[in-house]
Amino acid sequence: MLFRELSEYYEKLESISSRLSMIDVMGELFKRLRPNEVKNAIYITQGVLAPPFEGIEFGMAEKTVEDSISEATGHPKEKVESLYRKHGDMGVAAMELKKDTKVRGISSKEHTINDVYEIMVKMAITSGQGSKEAKTKMLASLIATATPLEAKYLVKYPLDELRLGVGDSTMLEALSIMATGHRKIKDKLERAYNLCSDLGYVGEVLAEKGESAIERFKIGLFKPIRPALAERLPTADEIMEKMHGECSVDQKYDGFRCQVHKSGKKVKIYSRRLEDTTEMYPDLAQAVIGEMKADSIIFEGEALAYNEDTREFLPFQETIRRKRKHGVEEKVQEMPLHLFAFDMMYLDGESYMEEPYKERRGRLEKVIKGGVIRPAGSTIAKSSKELQQFFQESIEEGLEGIIAKDMNAPYVAGARKFSWIKMKRSYRGELEDTVDLVIVGYYLGRGMRAEFKFGGLLGAVYNKKRDMFETISRIGSGFTEAQMREFKQTLDKIKVDNRPARVDSIVKPDFWVIPKYVVTVKADEITKSPMHTCGREKQEDGSEVGYALRFPRLVGEETFRKDKSVEEATTTKEIIEMYGQQKKVRMEDSGS
Ligand code: AMP
Repeated sequence: MLFRELSEYYEKLESISSRLSMIDVMGELFKRLRPNEVKNAIYITQGVLAPPFEGIEFGMAEKTVEDSISEATGHPKEKVESLYRKHGDMGVAAMELKKDTKVRGISSKEHTINDVYEIMVKMAITSGQGSKEAKTKMLASLIATATPLEAKYLVKYPLDELRLGVGDSTMLEALSIMATGHRKIKDKLERAYNLCSDLGYVGEVLAEKGESAIERFKIGLFKPIRPALAERLPTADEIMEKMHGECSVDQKYDGFRCQVHKSGKKVKIYSRRLEDTTEMYPDLAQAVIGEMKADSIIFEGEALAYNEDTREFLPFQETIRRKRKHGVEEKVQEMPLHLFAFDMMYLDGESYMEEPYKERRGRLEKVIKGGVIRPAGSTIAKSSKELQQFFQESIEEGLEGIIAKDMNAPYVAGARKFSWIKMKRSYRGELEDTVDLVIVGYYLGRGMRAEFKFGGLLGAVYNKKRDMFETISRIGSGFTEAQMREFKQTLDKIKVDNRPARVDSIVKPDFWVIPKYVVTVKADEITKSPMHTCGREKQEDGSEVGYALRFPRLVGEETFRKDKSVEEATTTKEIIEMYGQQKKVRMEDSGS
């Protein structure tokens, strides 16, 4: 397929306001591709060059792109810049200037999707002296022969500003339509995706080898598995009931989740978002080679700083200082990490994904020599009293709480299931947990905030069943001045004129943005509200009511939660559960 044709699909997608039509358009697009184009079309639509664990990123500066547009269209740079400022969209600026190009006599070479993708990869990996000029030339040569519409997307893609809003789930349904004409095999595709975390690869296997290859899909070394997630329950009694009277209980550490892949002396450590973070933790990588008695293994653990002298776990705010790309060596000395291993998915050529947890954990403990890597503290609880006691002891040690684990469950990749149930210490007077909200819009500043042109965010939770983002709150406090500037600058790049197709909202912010960023918010309580769409349901009196947050404020070390994708934000289901728990705590407090 030509990139020109792909651009026409993107233009169509941008104007769509329903998720279902989005799936149809994507399905139709996939059907028209050649099998060897599916993978690249998926990456381009996602706005990436490769899955996150491969670490190939554009890192393209706006100035470089402006230079390319100027070179390709013959308009001065100042003109490019002023149009960019006018529209707030470099793609639109490129499109307008292409319509009025000053460069004549260029042969009109038509680029296929694969041509464009390959040039983009080349651009991304060009580095060192003279690389800025080389990148400018490569992009300019693509723009020079493009149609105006094509130019728009050729510019937006490397700037990471494609505003298509096509999520993983939409893509999986569209792939199902490509292969079968209906959405029936979405679950099979999702399973394969959970095992390799590479949507492009899943699409390629489906297009080239068919449905049966998807059914046979297996995990592999150096392809990270989408992590299992925990449900939450507030009391030991409720956990025990779900676990049918017996379970394994782990201490819950508040550090970084690490998925470790080792084969011989090669080690990779993936983050919760499945980025390759090996470079950040040379001490852990070394320990994996020295301490794990296995030739090849995939296992998971939580890394955190631990003070050997005082025998104290350091709080997350301290541990997070190890997550850095520069000055790694000094930090290794200053703040050594421990890795508390809690699950194992693969050992010496065999997948353990389907083995019961007790089997996986038993084997894992046998291959750990001890040292930097240790098994996560755990016990078997046969009554809620035992569970409660272990919880209490863990809290006294300074830990966050516990995670109860179903001893017979397989490893449930990429899903929140009751095979893991967490219970965390609670603070009365405010919500026990923070919530992670997806930014779907923002407000202009008024009064004292007018100078920042930023007054607050519109936050949403993820409704997994509907694959939609439902609003839950406006967030107007907890920002520093620097953060307000950062919000304005970052969100302006993903601003759109109309409500994005996967956002469900009654309120209207000053500006809509494509769901792309997650922030952590603390609130006092969850209330019912007619203003928000989170969990919105018809009441007996015919009115419709959803859930909202009371006194929400931004918290956390980082402005944006870079470790979470929008589909990993707090879900509607979790909010409804938290609301139920909050009611229960109140009833206990008031003695009823
Ligand atoms: P949460 O982030 O609150 O949903 O809790 C789940 C997270 O707890 C996991 O993603 C891990 O990063 C972390 N964790 C800490 N200790 C353990 C453990 N023993 N087993 C599983 N997860 C753990």
